[in-house]
Amino acid sequence: MGIPTKISIPYKCGHKAVRDLSDVEPGKRKSRARWYAQTFDCPKCFQEARQQENTQDSNQRALDATDFAESHELPELEGSDAQIKWASIIRHETVAAVVDDEGTDDVDAVLTAARQIRWAGWWMDNLNWGERKDNDMDSADFRELILTGPAAQAERDETHVETENDL
Ligand SMILES: [Zn+2]
Repeated sequence: MGIPTKISIPYKCGHKAVRDLSDVEPGKRKSRARWYAQTFDCPKCFQEARQQENTQDSNQRALDATDFAESHELPELEGSDAQIKWASIIRHETVAAVVDDEGTDDVDAVLTAARQIRWAGWWMDNLNWGERKDNDMDSADFRELILTGPAAQAERDETHVETENDL
């Protein structure tokens, strides 16, 4: 015999799930279990709700990115649907940061460059969130990278044509 550590909790959503309460003092487990039951949806429902929120959030960001692209005459990107979605969001965030930065004196040059980078993969490779965070990038870095983008695009277009000719 022993004092139970795993307690079945009837969560708010109506599902029951067993929760390990071994880190709670034995005399407090019942009241903790009641608190969980009154406060939370079960872990599965909680997870699903959060995924739903993430999807809604990314859809909203994709819509914002489309608006931004239209108002700044940025072209439709090239790549798979998922690449286009994420690259458009990345492009919106970085180009907007440059445009909004009052310290940028060549906004037009940056926008002209951004309009030439149609390759979704370029935005994802160079300006994805991890890259930006790990390297502590700011709008001056975005500006510098975007200005080098057209050359990368031109190089890619050339290889692309060559590959097609080879076939
Ligand atoms: Zn549930």
